[in-house]
Amino acid sequence: MIAERNSMASSNGATKPKRVAKVKIVSTIRDMQTVIERWRSNRKKIGFVPTMGALHEGHLSLIREARKTCDRVVVSVFVNPMQFGPQEDLEAYPHDLKKDTRLATSEKVDVLFVPTVDAMYPEGFATQVKGGAQYTQTMCGESRPDHFDGVTTVVAKLLGITRPHKAFFGQKDFQQALIVQRMVVDLNLGCEVEVLPTVRESDGLAKSSRNSYLSEEERRAAPALYQALKLAEGMLQVGERNPQDMLNAVTKRLRTESLIEIEYVTAKNANTLEDVNILAGRVLVAIAVQLGKARLIDNIVVDVPSGS
Ligand code: AMP
Repeated sequence: MIAERNSMASSNGATKPKRVAKVKIVSTIRDMQTVIERWRSNRKKIGFVPTMGALHEGHLSLIREARKTCDRVVVSVFVNPMQFGPQEDLEAYPHDLKKDTRLATSEKVDVLFVPTVDAMYPEGFATQVKGGAQYTQTMCGESRPDHFDGVTTVVAKLLGITRPHKAFFGQKDFQQALIVQRMVVDLNLGCEVEVLPTVRESDGLAKSSRNSYLSEEERRAAPALYQALKLAEGMLQVGERNPQDMLNAVTKRLRTESLIEIEYVTAKNANTLEDVNILAGRVLVAIAVQLGKARLIDNIVVDVPSGS
């Protein structure tokens, strides 16, 4: 007999649904710190995955890696108002804590940390962590000038609360991951930062909570981002070394979709986010567009052998 998943045989041989312990939900900072204190004194290796919730396969890939490499896994769900501009989608941002709880349970997350805005930013809160302008005021920082200060501030707080040995981020938000890596080194925050590949739909669209804003027609146009990035990758592979020629081709590909409004198409040094005169070394090709109500970003990193 093949045993059904989530069921077990009782003493009389009948199968009963097995109770899967629901993930522990912690909503106060004090309670989270108490749990962390206990794990740390028991020498548990703590993995941390910060999210804004509405969990999808992209988040789950980070959680699975944390589960694989750490003894205890904390996932935070916090839609951080500080990283949204006044005209942005803070109010509309999707949330579904019930589904997040179900997914966290099935991924064997130890704690889902869901603090309130008031707990994170109580009256009198006055400190911000700011990354260097070279990282935060380019690319997404041009249209969202305060965004990354909101990110570094909240991530510094979350790292201070959860004190992980390892924190997990996605390459989809490449600029964010780089800024966080820089912050962790610069401020000696003492955790390892792991950046994991972008998880995509079968047609190449990067998974994102914001994809739920897309109409059917917009959803059909959305894979153009990845196709444009693949075009850039192909050009690099066959020897294109002129950034402008490559970016023109990427732009042209995106323009075949009339619903897409390009915010930027850029090629940067993937280590420093500096502009490149020649496509060589570790090259980041990144795109941001507006598609209906959704602002979508995507990127690839290509190692271009020097001298080739
Ligand atoms: P968010 O909830 O959008 O703030 O994302 C939380 C974390 O999940 C960030 O480190 C993101 O980069 C990561 N993430 C989001 N989408 C993806 C994806 N499609 N593939 C891999 N990681 C992702």
